[in-house]
Amino acid sequence: MNAPHPAAPAGVLIVGGGLVGASLAIALDAAGLRATLVDAAAPSRDAAASYDERNLALARASVNGLTSLGVWPHAASSATAIRRIHVNRAGEFGSARLDAARQGVDALGWTLPARELGAALARRLDGCTRLTRHAPATLVALDPIEGGWRALVRDGQGTRTVDAALLVGADGTESFVRERLGVAVQRHDYGQSLFVCTITPARDHAGQAFERFSDEGPVALLPLTQGRCGLVLTVPAGQADAVAALDDEAYAALAQRRLGWKLGRLARPGRRQFYPIRRVAATRLTGPRAVLVGNAAQTVHPIGAQGFNLGLRDALTLAELLQNAADPSAPALLDAYAARRLPDREGTMTMSHGLVQLACLPQPLLAPLRSLALLAFDRVPPLQQTLARRGMGFRGEPPRAVLEPLP
Ligand SMILES: Cc1cc2nc3c(=O)[nH]c(=O)nc-3n(C[C@H](O)[C@H](O)[C@H](O)COP(=O)(O)OP(=O)(O)OC[C@H]3O[C@@H](n4cnc5c(N)ncnc54)[C@H](O)[C@@H]3O)c2cc1C
Repeated sequence: MNAPHPAAPAGVLIVGGGLVGASLAIALDAAGLRATLVDAAAPSRDAAASYDERNLALARASVNGLTSLGVWPHAASSATAIRRIHVNRAGEFGSARLDAARQGVDALGWTLPARELGAALARRLDGCTRLTRHAPATLVALDPIEGGWRALVRDGQGTRTVDAALLVGADGTESFVRERLGVAVQRHDYGQSLFVCTITPARDHAGQAFERFSDEGPVALLPLTQGRCGLVLTVPAGQADAVAALDDEAYAALAQRRLGWKLGRLARPGRRQFYPIRRVAATRLTGPRAVLVGNAAQTVHPIGAQGFNLGLRDALTLAELLQNAADPSAPALLDAYAARRLPDREGTMTMSHGLVQLACLPQPLLAPLRSLALLAFDRVPPLQQTLARRGMGFRGEPPRAVLEPLP
């Protein structure tokens, strides 16, 4: 690998300090690398769009990664272990259960309000000594220069330029960096809207998560602290306004009809938020001296709970490759990044998309096949083990920071 020209810009510029950009900034700082983080949202994480009412299901691999970054100690007290996952389809006989104990682990993953993860990242960012932060500040222009990029960043005081050897687009689904790099995207509109809120079941959730598919779309219940659950409810997009207008009692009744009575009566829905659901996938992960991570690289259907999990593995893989690199933007390094991320990214996106497509299609002929697939998953241990490992975030060649001995 050739060393960069002495006068060439140094360091990494991360555009976007959401969950993934912030994780990358921490990982680079921990690796002893200099970086600049520019985020349009104020450092107070409540102001950031993705730190809202959503509750995140974090794969086991992600919690390992956040632990290695020193973030998890700030979040663990707000997290709930997922001990079992129960998946079925309304009106069909097959169902699948995943059990942490049967996989030889204490938890398949953990749930955590996005706001709490944001606060934990913000606390850990405050301890980063090699990182320069500009927030709230917006990237407004990007120009290639000899050996790197020159960014024009605007904040309340005016504009400044930031030069860097490597540009990282962590700026979300409608990424400005991706557009500036000329990277095309494939889009798919699911024609669904997804509501999130907390809800309180009559019975103890005992660390169980439920996922149920129906013609109206998927619905999930995630275990939270204080006996509450995170409710994720998908409706056809055309019904979103009517569902948003329901009062709490009618909304709880809708959730009950869609989820069934496994945890008894569902009551006290919290503040509701809803989102249009789309899949946006970049056709390339790199450009000249540039990389895309997180939602800028791929935005997936939230019901598979994979977006942040995948983005964190993007960030940790990139940090690992950069750690001992003489030139952070050498073509060989960027190629290695794209190659390392390929199996995990393709596999996770195919699984997420396929799950929603297959599970929500109303064709009656598919029903027995779907039920058999769920039964096979439930009864065939090797199949279950392989899928469980993938579901826990160990897919392809994972970054070292997420690894642990196989049970
Ligand atoms: C309802 C819902 C539930 C979900 N549940 C899960 C789950 O259970 N598990 C899971 O793993 N994932 C889940 N996800 C997905 C997850 O939330 C996202 O994948 C993740 O938040 C993406 O993080 P990001 O940092 O890549 O992007 P974002 O959070 O979108 O952050 C992008 C950042 O870039 C900044 N930015 C944008 N443009 C500029 C600019 N020009 N200059 C400076 N800054 C800029 C923005 O201010 C923002 O802070 C869910 C998503 C939704 C919608």
